Amino acid sequence: MGAEALAIAAHFARTRWGSAPGSRDALEAHQRRALRRFLREVLPRAPMYRDRRVRDLTDLPVMDKSALMGEFDARNTRGIRLEDAMALALRAEASRDFTPTISDVTVGLSSGTSGNRGVFLVSAAERRRWAGILLARALPPALTPRLLTPWAPPIRVAFFLRANSNLYETLGSRRIRFAFFDLLAGVEAALPALRALRPDVLVGTPQLLRALAAEQRAGRLDIRPSHILSVAEVLEAQDAAAVEQAFGVRPHQLYQATEGFLGYTCAHGGLHLNERFVHIEPQWLDEARTRFQPVVTDFTRETQLIVRYRLNDVLRLADAPCACGSPERTLAAIEGRCDEVLWLPARDSARAVPVFPDAVRRCMALAGPAVREFEVVQQGMRWHVRLAASPGAQVLVVRAMAELWARLGVRPPELVFGDWQAQDLHLKRRRVRLAQLPQGLSCTF
Ligand SMILES: [Zn+2]
Repeated sequence: MGAEALAIAAHFARTRWGSAPGSRDALEAHQRRALRRFLREVLPRAPMYRDRRVRDLTDLPVMDKSALMGEFDARNTRGIRLEDAMALALRAEASRDFTPTISDVTVGLSSGTSGNRGVFLVSAAERRRWAGILLARALPPALTPRLLTPWAPPIRVAFFLRANSNLYETLGSRRIRFAFFDLLAGVEAALPALRALRPDVLVGTPQLLRALAAEQRAGRLDIRPSHILSVAEVLEAQDAAAVEQAFGVRPHQLYQATEGFLGYTCAHGGLHLNERFVHIEPQWLDEARTRFQPVVTDFTRETQLIVRYRLNDVLRLADAPCACGSPERTLAAIEGRCDEVLWLPARDSARAVPVFPDAVRRCMALAGPAVREFEVVQQGMRWHVRLAASPGAQVLVVRAMAELWARLGVRPPELVFGDWQAQDLHLKRRRVRLAQLPQGLSCTF
């Protein structure tokens, strides 16, 4: 085993079998210790924080992507300039050769709309830690013996990505073989290689997994993955069901962003925040304190500092703790991005009421199998509902939405129905989207 693989294996073993905090108190104490060390030893290495006396995390402002990019040079500890990093990342994307680094630092682009793309930096040591923790969290116990048995066949993983990165190449070794499929090339092109590979683990966006499920059911694909991971987008109940039906295994989720490895599905099926390695402050979005935007501090990273970084995601807490007993918070769902929250005026006041994407998706699910695909776009008080559906579905959708308006106490928007159109697989899917707020409504959480 090379030094690289050995380091990954060490992180894997520590995460999987090392002593983990057993209670919420112990977990929080562990986080406080890690944060203290991070603030004292790592933070001053970045110009941004060099002369700042920081005693507590809350002494620092909450930042977002524009701050991270705007002060890129000052927020990394290696003196890497944004223009150099961006140039390298763009060259890699254009050539589809993702191996170049700046000294040992991998540079990647986060998916985002053009002009709003983030650049992330990960050192070789961080890459190995990330790979070890990710494998420990993502690989099911049933496959672990094969990872550790030199004479067993390697675990084969099919990985569908928008862009490859040597971040992911790090995961490869003799025990685990990664095959990367370019989402840009589409599903059709991937079928022959996928058939030949016979992957044990399938990793991709929900949209991609669903497309593969359709191929499998149509008989054009015959693979038997024992583990399926959904990444990068919201995994909706309908998608999960379609994938399970086709492959016989329930997809797990990896909540992994360029800002860090934030969450994973445990063996009991609970979706946990990765709080042993990342500090996450909930910024509550509702009075009942069920939904929040995560503010992330990754105290394991030492190159590009992610400190009180607010993600644009809406997360919903589960009602009950997970049966696995982990003290890490359990999510009911990653509901979507903040710009997927729609807003309507209250029926009897000027107040703006948020309609969370999950509520809209539930309406569509309530309309039943008649609705195969949908998209809802809010344009002020007009909602464009585009459906791929059987006749009669519209009536069901109208009924489900009327119940939603009543429950939320809001003024109903005008529903404008149209036909749903398929979009390219490599584009981020957003089934619910806010294009324009209703006039004169002040919409804040
Ligand atoms: Zn659990």
